[in-house]
Amino acid sequence: MKLKPHWQMLIALVAATLLGIILRSMDHSSVAGLIDFFQFVGNLFMALLKMIIVPLVASSVIVGIASLHGVKGFGRLLGKTAGFYALTSFLAICLGLMLVNVIEPGLKDGQANEAIAKAFTSHEANEAALDKVEMAKQRGADEQKPFDQLKGFFLRMVPPNIFAAASSNGQMLGLIFFSICFAVGMTRLPLERVKPLRDLFESINEVMITLTHTIMALSPIGVFALIVPVIYNTGGELFLSLGKYFGTVLLALGIHLFVIMPLVIRFLANVNPWAHFRAMKTALLTAFSTASSSATLPVTMRCIQEEAGVSKKTASFTLPLGATVNMDGTALYECVAVIFVAQVMGVDMSFTAQFMVVISALLTSVGVAGIPSASLVAIFIILTNSNIPGAETAMVALLAVDRLLDMTRTAVNVFGDSCAAIVIAKSEGEEVLTT
Ligand code: ASP
Repeated sequence: MKLKPHWQMLIALVAATLLGIILRSMDHSSVAGLIDFFQFVGNLFMALLKMIIVPLVASSVIVGIASLHGVKGFGRLLGKTAGFYALTSFLAICLGLMLVNVIEPGLKDGQANEAIAKAFTSHEANEAALDKVEMAKQRGADEQKPFDQLKGFFLRMVPPNIFAAASSNGQMLGLIFFSICFAVGMTRLPLERVKPLRDLFESINEVMITLTHTIMALSPIGVFALIVPVIYNTGGELFLSLGKYFGTVLLALGIHLFVIMPLVIRFLANVNPWAHFRAMKTALLTAFSTASSSATLPVTMRCIQEEAGVSKKTASFTLPLGATVNMDGTALYECVAVIFVAQVMGVDMSFTAQFMVVISALLTSVGVAGIPSASLVAIFIILTNSNIPGAETAMVALLAVDRLLDMTRTAVNVFGDSCAAIVIAKSEGEEVLTT
């Protein structure tokens, strides 16, 4: 009997965790080569997933919108999708804000926790972390106020060069915008003139879906190779001193994933949350293993159509957009991280200051790319804009322990997108499979 893909992935996850733990107890020089090899295989798997994103996104957005017959249906879908994304991200941020204020992970006996501040400063930055700080500084200089962040979003959305937009890692906004314009253009021409184009994009789309199936067959190997180095590299004193912070983030993400979102889909669309989880399980596991919503997109698209029964039209509109702009887990995480650093640095944040953090988390999460650790850049920007000292040190330290939290928040991000797809499908009168 052949095991189902999600079981294979789960087994790979557990086996990789065990192997990671064993390798940690061994001498570094004797296992370094093996870890390098796993990293290489993991990167190859991520590259395979990313390889099909551009043709998949372009063809599905074009096929989906071109089938809407006119701009009216498009405007309605856009309005509903944007409203749902804004609502759920806002709920996530409020939850994060509440928990970080109640648990106070950055304080000890009501005072700033100096041990954490010390662990932050004594942590050495590696090159990758410094590169990220540099990137954050550049973006931070352009996006000092919420209004600048909004401007930055629109500038990223309209691509002066579609090929450059298509090749930007994890930032699909320009590609989506162009594909939407292209498809709207198609709907304005008589059908016989655009029929060949429609057939062509439909065929491209089908080929990409077939390729997704093939790549998914390799996912247990990919998951295994990605997780071993994560477990091997995780740890150290910094990890231990941040235990309460980890707990706060994971608790908030858990409540959003297992309580808030299920209630939202139950009440807004009368969808059975358990059935929806079951339909999305492979996508959730892929998101968790890759820590990238963009790389997971082909799998999310497959699950929502084949397992949850959402139409191509709705899936291809809501999901590529969601993988780029809707990040509930990321928005929640940004808020918790910023308030946590403020607590550690002994900055007492007023209600207004916290409110500004909420707005900034909402806006910057829209601009965060769907790639690993992308939200650290947004956290840096909010910290600097809120005049909280130590943004750079905090970012380097948080980056060092980010992977596990990143994996979890990416799964929450992807689940949020899938909930939007199912709610919007139901509101459009579609018969889905998860009621
Ligand atoms: N890794 C996340 C994603 O791809 C983004 C982040 O929060 O860093 O959804």
